[in-house]
Amino acid sequence: MLKKLVLFDIDGTLLKVGNINRRILMDALVEIYGTEGSAATHDFSGRMDSTIIYDVLGDTGIAREKIEEKFEAAKQSYIRRFRKETQKSDITLLSGVPELLRNLAGRADILLGLLTGNFEASGRHKLHLPGIDHYFSFGAFADDGMHRNDLPPVAVERAYRITGRRFTGSEIVIIGDTVHDITCARVLNGRSIAVATGNFSINDLRKHNPSELFENLSRTEYVIHSILKP
Ligand SMILES: [Mg+2]
Repeated sequence: MLKKLVLFDIDGTLLKVGNINRRILMDALVEIYGTEGSAATHDFSGRMDSTIIYDVLGDTGIAREKIEEKFEAAKQSYIRRFRKETQKSDITLLSGVPELLRNLAGRADILLGLLTGNFEASGRHKLHLPGIDHYFSFGAFADDGMHRNDLPPVAVERAYRITGRRFTGSEIVIIGDTVHDITCARVLNGRSIAVATGNFSINDLRKHNPSELFENLSRTEYVIHSILKP
C-alpha cells in the first residue's frame, strides 16, 4: 500500500550538469532578446527556469511586459538548444542516486515524482541522458508556476490522478539540495530531506531546519529509512 510520495529535485540532488547549461541559456536569451542580461553570473541554485529568465533580463532594465512578450520564444529556444547540445558526458549522476532510485522504484509503499525548477522538456532530457527518466512517471515543473512554492499542490494533484490517493502532510517528502527545497516542503506541511551535493554545505542547510540532512545519497538504507519516518 502506498505510504509516501517522494518528490525529487533534479540539479544538485540527482545530478549535476556542466557549465553548458548556463551557456545555452545565454545563447537563447541573446537570440530572442539581443542580450543575455545577468545570466553569466546569476545564482541559479534552487530557482525556477521561468523566474531566472525574468530576473536576469530584469537586472539589465528590460521591462517585465517586454520580457513576457517573448518569453515563450525564449523558453522554446532554450529547450531546443538544450536538447540538441547537451550530451551524456555533460551530466554527472550524484553519488548513490542509481542505487537509491532502483531501490525506491521496487517498493510498493513509495510513489516517485519530480519537483523541480526545470522546464519539463529540458529536465526530462537531463534525466534521459544518464538513463533515469523512466523512474519518474510525473512531476511538477517550471511550466507549472512562477514560484517553487506553487509546485507541491500540483505534484500532489497529479499523484492523485495517477493513484487515486491524496497524499497529505508528512506523507509528502521533498528531497533537494537548497533552502528553496526545504521551504517548499513546508507549503503542505511535508517533510524535507536536504542533501549537501549542490552549492550549499551541510552547515548552510542545517540552518534552515530540514527534517533530515545528508552529506549525499549514498547510504541507501539510511535514506529509505528517513523517507519512511512517520
Ligand atoms: Mg537543486
